[in-house]
Amino acid sequence: MGLLEDLQARSGAKCEICGATENLKIYEVPPVSTGGVDGSLLGCETCLSQIEDPDAVDPNHWRCLNDSMWSEHPPVQVVAWRMLSRLKAEGWPQDLLDMMYLDDELLAWAKATGEGQDESEKIIHRDVNGVILENGDSVVLIKDLKVKGSSMVAKQGTAVRRISLDRENAEYIEGKVGPQQIVIITKYVKKI
Ligand SMILES: [Zn+2]
Repeated sequence: MGLLEDLQARSGAKCEICGATENLKIYEVPPVSTGGVDGSLLGCETCLSQIEDPDAVDPNHWRCLNDSMWSEHPPVQVVAWRMLSRLKAEGWPQDLLDMMYLDDELLAWAKATGEGQDESEKIIHRDVNGVILENGDSVVLIKDLKVKGSSMVAKQGTAVRRISLDRENAEYIEGKVGPQQIVIITKYVKKI
């Protein structure tokens, strides 16, 4: 069976969040590492579009979490936790969150996208000018940098495309200079 069939079998062909039966799609719960049935859920268009776009969230729709937060399936629990965290200012989601229990591993997964953290706690990468950097951005080096562990010097003015951010440290990004993946300190780059 394929992933879609597996998820349909698990859910009874319903949205695993709100129970809708129309427009169901696979949602790979980010950050996708394993994917597959243990990393995905079956969700309806309404749920998925609101998960993807925080600005489009209709809090009332998410009253359905009252039931689905008790799902036995980890991907559903993780999404329920994230949406409750996103909506906690409404009051009732905080009450549900307080009742929810996730073990350490699941909680780490749930928190991996930064949902529910205060803005000030989030790790934000900024270039030399304070411009926020995102995964996939391109930057240019503003000074010559010695590459650790090699004799190479990455020259000022070198463009580094499709950077990735260090999840744990706001001062580091990674990117390729020539064939080599290097770690770069954010204050030495400018976003382009
Ligand atoms: Zn739904």
